[in-house]
Amino acid sequence: MAARVKLPGSWPARLQSWVGGAWRPSTSASVQTLPVHCSALNKTLCEYEVAGTEDVEEAVRVATAAQREWARWAPAERGRVLRRAADILTERNDELSALEAFDTSRPLQETLYVDIVSARDALEYYGGLAATIGGEMIQQPNQSWAYTIREPLGVTCGIGAWNYPMQSAGWKAAPALACGNAILFKPAEDTPLTALALGEVLREAGLPDGLYNVMLGAGETGQLLTRHPGISKVSFTGSVPTGKAICRDAADSLKKVQMELGGKSPLIIFEDTDLDEAVSATMLANWYSNGEVCSNGTRVFVQASIKDRFLDELVRRTGKIKLGDPLDMETQMSALINEKHFAKVMSYIEKGQAEGARLVMGGERVSVEGDCAASACFMTPAIFDNCTDDMSIVREEIFGPVASILTFETEEEVVRRANDTDFGLSAGVFTNDIRRAHRVIREVKAGTTWINNYNLAPAEIPWIGHKSSGIGGSNGTLGIEDWTQIKSVYVEMDKVDCPYE
Ligand code: NDP
Repeated sequence: MAARVKLPGSWPARLQSWVGGAWRPSTSASVQTLPVHCSALNKTLCEYEVAGTEDVEEAVRVATAAQREWARWAPAERGRVLRRAADILTERNDELSALEAFDTSRPLQETLYVDIVSARDALEYYGGLAATIGGEMIQQPNQSWAYTIREPLGVTCGIGAWNYPMQSAGWKAAPALACGNAILFKPAEDTPLTALALGEVLREAGLPDGLYNVMLGAGETGQLLTRHPGISKVSFTGSVPTGKAICRDAADSLKKVQMELGGKSPLIIFEDTDLDEAVSATMLANWYSNGEVCSNGTRVFVQASIKDRFLDELVRRTGKIKLGDPLDMETQMSALINEKHFAKVMSYIEKGQAEGARLVMGGERVSVEGDCAASACFMTPAIFDNCTDDMSIVREEIFGPVASILTFETEEEVVRRANDTDFGLSAGVFTNDIRRAHRVIREVKAGTTWINNYNLAPAEIPWIGHKSSGIGGSNGTLGIEDWTQIKSVYVEMDKVDCPYE
């Protein structure tokens, strides 16, 4: 293992937060540490120091000074730094993808093509947009006029989930920096590595010190950020309960909040669709990244007339999925992130059966030979049939490889049932009827949707959750709106119209 994954040579043996362009030893009286652990290999690579109150204070101070200067830079110059960082990420893709696979226990065959690439794309996209950030001109009576200015928010913070750590850091840092802000990013406690690597990459690209900082730690460190009066925005990716708690914490200092939360998304498959395509999408929407994807289409609604054929094919192809060592390029699924999460996902296998669903395949704890033999977090992908809308496995986010198959007869029925949830992150529809495809997408209450595909997330398309799945969003020009504030300026070209003598 050690030979296959190692920390970059410039890194300290015990990792620290990244503040002001350098490693920052924690100044807390009793330094707490946490391990960097891979659940698939059951191996700890190193440990890191948790950032406490003093560390956050120092980071806010450093970021405040740096941001004042950065906001004065020509936007095109800011963009150039981001685009250089994108190029460096491309050069370091192999090495960073291995770190990401280790940290998340997600297959290298994914991280090589998605994770670093996704952060790279965000840096490239917002690097290109930086010089276009501007306001509007609004004509007023008597030749007067008004204009708007898009200003940075100042010092902001980002808090990430553990499933896509580099993507999360990149999706937040790229628009934040392009718009002239500084950011303090707290990765999930399980997956700190690539957010730190991004710090080095941005520094090498010419980003001034203090603009991108990584605060290491668990929820308590996150709370130091979300409660800090010197931070003007929190961009959060994680679960709905944590998102609500953060909104409450952010309220005291009236921070702008951006929430990218969980989901229980519908994937709707009509009988006129190409069955192979629909099965491919269902597998991507349930097994990719070990099923640990916020937008996954875990409520699979299949029109009754094709349900049996669909299920046979899904079972046949799922049976060929190769579970194993995340660093082996043949591996298609690996271990879940940690034992606590594994136990939670397995509890839904029991609940599903207890509530009357039929477990068609999977849902078993398995062991994998070789380097992964000591891991207790491997499970086979699970397919439930005979599901009903009221079951726990259909209503609650599981965040693991558990698909629920539901049947429907009519378009009106499936839209109503698809919308019967508090979540509203994503939805997909498969049909060859072009009118129906657009009609259904217009009716589903979700922010990020697909017709005849699933889970694509290019940097230029807004990524957004509706209802309980989010506030604001990432990517596209929406990112510019979310990381700036508007100032309006009225310009009087005539006399002041005053009723007083
Ligand atoms: P959590 O909500 O448990 O944690 C998310 C982050 O918040 C972690 O960094 C966590 O730290 C931190 N945190 C926990 N408590 C607090 C607090 N009180 N104040 C500030 N920060 C806190 O989510 P998970 O990490 O378990 O991620 C899974 C969830 O994320 C799923 O619901 C998934 O759907 C959602 N998600 C949404 C995405 C989207 O784009 N909409 C994308 C990816 C995931 P720590 O790690 O120490 O717990």
